[in-house]
Amino acid sequence: MRELVFELRFKGEAGKPLLSPYKQIYTGDMQAFFELQCPSRECAGGGFDLSTAADRAAGSHDGISHGLIKCRGVAQGSACVVELQYEIVAFTT
Ligand SMILES: [Zn+2]
Repeated sequence: MRELVFELRFKGEAGKPLLSPYKQIYTGDMQAFFELQCPSRECAGGGFDLSTAADRAAGSHDGISHGLIKCRGVAQGSACVVELQYEIVAFTT
């Protein structure tokens, strides 16, 4: 059985936090789809794909993967400024 713990922090303009940081836990062997929506209301077509990061965590020797992903959406005519800072810890039980 595999468990993945995601720690997620969204940041808006000038690195200001958007939403409170939160944790999300996935268990099981299902082929999960780790796609998160952008929390900005002005953003169109945005989102964050954490599938690669989750694979990296599961495949690394310490089970940890962290990084920063920029939103791929557009807000008010320019690139959305929202960023997602993540840390993923993979456990095998
Ligand atoms: Zn966005």
